[in-house]
Amino acid sequence: MIIKMKEQATKKEYEKIVAYLESRHFEIKDVSSEHIMVFGVIGDTSSIDPHDLYAFQGVGEITRVSTPFKKASRSFKRGDTIINLGKGVQIGGDQFIVMAGPCSVESEKQLMKIAENVKKAGAHILRGGAYKPRTSPYSFQGLEEEGLKLMRKVGDQTGLFVISEIPSADLLPLFETYVDIIQVGTRNMQNFHLLKALGKAKKPVMLKRGMSATIEEWLMSAEYIMAGGNEQVILCERGIRTYERYTRNTLDISAVLAVKELSHLPIIIDPSHAAGRWNMVEKLSLASLAVGAHGLMVEVHHDPEHALSDGAQSLKINKFKTMMTEIDKISQVLGKRHL
Ligand code: PEP
Ligand code: MN
Repeated sequence: MIIKMKEQATKKEYEKIVAYLESRHFEIKDVSSEHIMVFGVIGDTSSIDPHDLYAFQGVGEITRVSTPFKKASRSFKRGDTIINLGKGVQIGGDQFIVMAGPCSVESEKQLMKIAENVKKAGAHILRGGAYKPRTSPYSFQGLEEEGLKLMRKVGDQTGLFVISEIPSADLLPLFETYVDIIQVGTRNMQNFHLLKALGKAKKPVMLKRGMSATIEEWLMSAEYIMAGGNEQVILCERGIRTYERYTRNTLDISAVLAVKELSHLPIIIDPSHAAGRWNMVEKLSLASLAVGAHGLMVEVHHDPEHALSDGAQSLKINKFKTMMTEIDKISQVLGKRHL
């Protein structure tokens, strides 16, 4: 961190902030010139919020030279984090992982039909919401614990790993019992109480980007989980809120490149919640593969017209199969392992 004092700052003001930082065990490297007082703060500055230092009089400009997140940062770990689920499925390596399934678990019959078909088409992980974060309290809220049990049962019967969204920290024991990956939804990305609890979880966590979160805020949320001891974090870009209303959200495809520069954590894309329209999902999925994402999360339903949630963005089974064939072709061109 570099701190530049205002031109009119006094020596006393300079000494006051330097003394404060030294009392916090930072080393100070002075690089002042005749006209301006400037110094570097050396040490682990992740515990300092630069904004707080503007409380000191005479402080002109503060520039961070290191990221505020540590464990999630590329400088902390040069190699990519690879999350090993078993049975040859790895997230974060050269394999392109596909998570597919309904928005909500509606019944055993519905889940089984979708799971069998996505498995046949080459998906690795079954997605399905049991606790649904709906905008309206009058919309379908999910089958809750029963839904999680069905996810486990259908996952085991079809040979798919399962992922589902956790709504609150008190349900962690239930999620640890039934799912292979715990999903944090966009609305909970900054639920720090939940993130801290997930820091103690024994299962990998997939952290969706908050719909209004910057990449730095998103990585700080990953840091919460990692700081608690759980380093198995997967990031998921699912579209952000912009002024554009044609699509449900705006897919920030460049986030994949930014995250890969800043962090060693795997990153996948959810084009379904980004676009909100099924007819855009295939092309956005191919773009995700081309840009270097480690995988996809896609909503699939055998009867989207009657789905209890997000039918408009759910792919029908035959469309999902076509998309998987296209993914296969592009994977081969890119030299990526898909199945
Ligand atoms: C979901 O994947 O089921 C979901 C609710 O997504 P998001 O949190 O991205 O809205
Ligand atoms: Mn959904």
